[in-house]
Amino acid sequence: MSRFAFPAFAAVMLLLPLLPVPDFWITQSIYIGLYAIVVLGLVLLTGVAGLISFGQAAFVGVGAYTAAYLGARLGVPPLLTLLAGVTLAVLAAIVLGAITLRMSGHYLPLATIAWGLALNYTMANMEGLGKYDGILGIPTLNLLGLDLGTGRGLHPLVWAIVLLAALATVRLLDSRPGRAIRALRSGASMAEAMGISTFRYKLVAFVFAAVLAAVSGWLFAYFQRSVSPSPFSINKGIEYLFMAVLGGVSHVWGAILGSGVVRLVEDELQVLLPRLIGTSGNFETIVFGIVLVVVLKYAPDGLWAFVQRWLPQRQRVRDWDQARPLPARDKPAPGELLLTVDAVRKTFGGLVAVNDVSFKVHAGDIVGLIGPNGAGKSTTFNLITGVHALSGGTVSFGGRPITGLPSRQIARRGISRTFQHVKLIPEMSVLENVALGGYLRSRAGSVRAVLRLDRDEERQLFAEAERQLARIGMADQMLEPAGNLALGSQRLVEIARALCTDPALLLLDEPAAGLRHKEKQALADVLRQLKSEGMSILLVEHDMDFVMGLTDRIVVMEFGNKLMEGTPSEVQASPAVRAAYLGTDH
Ligand code: ADP
Ligand code: MG
Repeated sequence: MSRFAFPAFAAVMLLLPLLPVPDFWITQSIYIGLYAIVVLGLVLLTGVAGLISFGQAAFVGVGAYTAAYLGARLGVPPLLTLLAGVTLAVLAAIVLGAITLRMSGHYLPLATIAWGLALNYTMANMEGLGKYDGILGIPTLNLLGLDLGTGRGLHPLVWAIVLLAALATVRLLDSRPGRAIRALRSGASMAEAMGISTFRYKLVAFVFAAVLAAVSGWLFAYFQRSVSPSPFSINKGIEYLFMAVLGGVSHVWGAILGSGVVRLVEDELQVLLPRLIGTSGNFETIVFGIVLVVVLKYAPDGLWAFVQRWLPQRQRVRDWDQARPLPARDKPAPGELLLTVDAVRKTFGGLVAVNDVSFKVHAGDIVGLIGPNGAGKSTTFNLITGVHALSGGTVSFGGRPITGLPSRQIARRGISRTFQHVKLIPEMSVLENVALGGYLRSRAGSVRAVLRLDRDEERQLFAEAERQLARIGMADQMLEPAGNLALGSQRLVEIARALCTDPALLLLDEPAAGLRHKEKQALADVLRQLKSEGMSILLVEHDMDFVMGLTDRIVVMEFGNKLMEGTPSEVQASPAVRAAYLGTDH
């Protein structure tokens, strides 16, 4: 958003009650604000992290019922009911998340449905919570001796919280933890290879969304002055998801837009549809269902994408020239034994993808791993970097075993990699993608990010990312979204990202694939330059000529077996290699 749009919008929303607008508008606007707070959480959780929750309404219920029970029955003051509601929601999210977030696929959506149903059932059947009638007689919100009432007084508080939540989300996304959360959707293997605990950041996103939902519920209780189970049902959970999708599920401001549109349209439909059809009922749900399908098909980025086109885009200001360098690791001495791969084995069902393969890499060497398609090269990479569990054998690095360690700990030891199938975050800039590589060399967490106490470190990260991009000759494209680049360039960005981790050993899986002849030569020059600076490289490559002029040693694989190992000229002279690799007779 442009620099003035946000303050202008904030001023209008905060001052609205002072304008001579009808009370009905104020009420609608409060509802929109309450929805938007929940939907902002869904933007982070579903839109950005790719985790679907149908259970947000239940978290709203936790906040609302806590306020209602403590406030109406026990006379607890609002700030304490807020603290209690948020604490309960956080605990619920941690328990639910701990059970489901390690599992992939659809466990989370299913678990959130179960949680939504279970909590709704509990509210509707517990004597202490008033069963279906709910809890009545909640006092109006009284903060620091100021009674906010349920209309014009409450409105500024609701919208101040919306704006703060939006600001917190924007700030979180534009930070080290934010990049980690944005990496979740492109699959665990890339994020973990950068040293990120994907479980941890899924949990961060889930808890963040639950907290926002509980805060919305807390406001809701004092606004309605009564609670009952139905506003926290699974239907409402689906409606929140609908608002997020309609507004544009990965856009922070889309959350507010989606909430507004749904609330206003819902209200019109509730009046209009029964008149059209002739009987009363919740027909708007059907309309929403149809609209949802249409939006997903024709405008998958939601309504905000259309608004965004008309707003001036803000470019990142390049402000990191003076940044201190990030910490760097001690590099191994040239010639020192670095990586020992000893009889590693991987079977997939009956297929032996890697069959007791052994080789070594010494510091400062470029070792080529070549072989026909399906020979097991990428699988070998995945065994070294902890993506796959070994079926047999051991791997040690820098004299210490790394067998069985998770990817992110292997990354911490100093092995970094690229992927045969490029794994960049397409909508994020090249610079931010590369900065993701600096994750382990930096420390800022979510709270520091939201409070903007991480700016010095961010400058350090971007300075390092730009330096690595310059190393591969791509600094002039750093502000482009990574998805706009040609595939060959995307591979180069992956190398810069791997370099940004400050590795002792670089594993490159077919870096030259998709490059033109000239670009290949440029890449070879870059790799030679890295070698001259003491970097050790293990290189999977298909193009024989490319590895011949570049590598110190070559390991040849075929059908999972190691066929031979030698200098490039030995490999080139071997009839067996020619037969296997080129598919020709001697
Ligand atoms: P390369 O990189 O040398 O082309 P790969 O290591 O990708 O070869 O694959 C080696 C063999 O293992 C192939 O037959 C491939 O189909 C199989 N393979 C690789 N990954 C998996 C997997 N996750 N599940 C089942 N089979 C796999
Ligand atoms: Mg491969």
